[in-house]
Amino acid sequence: MDGFMTSLDAVGGVLTARAAARGVTLVRGAPVTALRQDGQSVTVTAGGREHHARWLVGCDGGHSAVRTLARFSFTGTAPLFTGYVAQVTFDDPRRLPLGFHLTPTGMYLRTPLEGHLGTMDFDGGAFDRSRPLTRAHLQEVLRRVSGTDAALTEVRLASSFTDRAMQATSYRRGRVLLAGDAAHIHSPLGGQGLNLGIGDAMNLGWKLAATVRGDAPDGLLDSYTAERHPVGAAVLDWSRTQVATMRPGPHAPALQHLVRDLMATSDGTTHVYRRSSGLFHRYDLGGDQPLVGRTAPDFRLAGAGRLSDLLRDGRGVLLDFGPHRSLGEEAAPWKEQVTYVPGRPDDSLGYEALLVRPDGIVAWAGLPGAPDDAGLQDCLARWFTRS
Ligand SMILES: Cc1cc2nc3c(=O)[nH]c(=O)nc-3n(C[C@H](O)[C@H](O)[C@H](O)COP(=O)(O)OP(=O)(O)OC[C@H]3O[C@@H](n4cnc5c(N)ncnc54)[C@H](O)[C@@H]3O)c2cc1C
Repeated sequence: MDGFMTSLDAVGGVLTARAAARGVTLVRGAPVTALRQDGQSVTVTAGGREHHARWLVGCDGGHSAVRTLARFSFTGTAPLFTGYVAQVTFDDPRRLPLGFHLTPTGMYLRTPLEGHLGTMDFDGGAFDRSRPLTRAHLQEVLRRVSGTDAALTEVRLASSFTDRAMQATSYRRGRVLLAGDAAHIHSPLGGQGLNLGIGDAMNLGWKLAATVRGDAPDGLLDSYTAERHPVGAAVLDWSRTQVATMRPGPHAPALQHLVRDLMATSDGTTHVYRRSSGLFHRYDLGGDQPLVGRTAPDFRLAGAGRLSDLLRDGRGVLLDFGPHRSLGEEAAPWKEQVTYVPGRPDDSLGYEALLVRPDGIVAWAGLPGAPDDAGLQDCLARWFTRS
């Protein structure tokens, strides 16, 4: 961990430990090659063996076999560039200036990290990424894009990507669901792909668990696509905007000037931060309470700890900042799925009570003097089933 940065391996390590702690069996090195489904179950062939399940979630990345085999519709825009990230050795590093440089044919980036190089080549995504990525190819791209005579003597590590931006039109087809890059791909500019996939998993996990247990209210599983598809579409658009500001030609610099002007304002910077952090989207859950549909703040509650800790067991939480005797009674019939937590928070943000879904999203908010009990009952019935 370095500041706000973390590696993919570190994230994978946390998720693997969590899965192991929950008794999940992980089978590695067994690619999915076939699947079929009927109204009751899904059969998957992986590593030459058949596995049967009631549900299947394809989290198998941008080239998802599950997405193809289950015939999801996957639509979007073609790439404008091929991008490269590499660990290299230069014969003379002084020939390639440090920093981020836009050029008439693309972009190159040399960071202070020894040998770290990034480039974008606006070739219409023409590079055949199934081919080995050789030093000679990277050298040719770097010369063309940078207009320098910087020479690469060694390429230690290199990978390529494009800005192809595609999304499954629905994240569910029968008993098969998609999450992460399997559901949406876009350029890595802005670094939002992993957060987007984790957001899918948080949204889907508790809904699928309730469906498997048999206590999901009608429509719960389909709310996954309804809520997550717009969030994915917005990230795809965001990544297309970034590409538009770098595209060679006279229009991109004009767009850059506008973006710079907007980002020089406090509102502009705040907007960009909120959009790229992935934490401030709002699901349309109806009503006009500003917190409803958003991630709940991580309240610290006197005697009960933090909200994020209370959510770890996968149940919803009814926070009662009063406390109000009646809310505890109202929540009692839902106690298998919702934990009732009375207690004063460090800052109530002006609310009297909040119903928080297992994914941390505020589903209902009660205001001082008027905890809307009818609204709470409707909301409990929308997301949970009575015990
Ligand atoms: C250069 C680059 C930089 C990036 N930087 C950032 C960043 O800073 N921040 C950020 O949030 N995102 C970033 N991303 C995006 C991020 O890496 C991805 O969005 C994220 O890894 C997607 O996770 P995933 O689990 O959905 O898919 P993947 O990480 O692709 O994992 C898919 C898994 O499925 C397995 N699999 C594949 N095929 C099969 C099969 N047939 N059967 C069974 N298993 C299979 C694979 O082995 C793999 O384990 C970057 C991407 C690139 C290319």
